[in-house]
Amino acid sequence: MSSTLHVQWTVTSLIAPRPWLTCGRCGGIKPFQSSGKARLNANGKRLDAWLIYKCSDCENTWNRPLFERRNVRDIDPLLLEALQANDHRRIEALAFDLDGLRRSAGRIEEFAEAKVARQVLIGDPAAFHGIRIDLRVPLPCCLRLDRLLAAELGVSRTKIHALQVAGRLKLPPNGDRMLRRPVREGMVVELDAASVSERMLVEAAMSLAVG
Ligand SMILES: [Zn+2]
Repeated sequence: MSSTLHVQWTVTSLIAPRPWLTCGRCGGIKPFQSSGKARLNANGKRLDAWLIYKCSDCENTWNRPLFERRNVRDIDPLLLEALQANDHRRIEALAFDLDGLRRSAGRIEEFAEAKVARQVLIGDPAAFHGIRIDLRVPLPCCLRLDRLLAAELGVSRTKIHALQVAGRLKLPPNGDRMLRRPVREGMVVELDAASVSERMLVEAAMSLAVG
């Protein structure tokens, strides 16, 4: 009989990173946000593409280069189609692509706001001795793992670190260093429910998990 409850938390970042740029219209350095729209420009067989950002104060636009002077044969047809159609999901993924944004902007503001959806994968929520939480993180998110666990389990970050030191919270394969890192796709957290307080933790972990 397996006594491990296997759950999945999907952590979805809510606010795309914002570059801070000098706005030529309203003056000063201002945060720009993605407009959700891309622009393509054809020059013979070569294409340029940009993601359009807007100044948060005056709506002045800034074009973030996605690619420049690229031969149409060398562009992923699915990407091209998505850019032409302003496909919401693909444009959103580009807006959250921090590495891509860093190539064009020096100062970038990141946000830790995220929503968490929980789902039971395997196990009986009524009888178990441990819980394994698999993290799905579809968009880059700067939320630290210890902050996520503290918020979702309803305990302090000090408590989260104490549980890790006591070996009741395990973070394979890299252990405690992971606690201070941003949440990432594929992270796994294992919680021991051997004592009463940990049992309460697990119940907190489970409270929204069914359904
Ligand atoms: Zn402006």
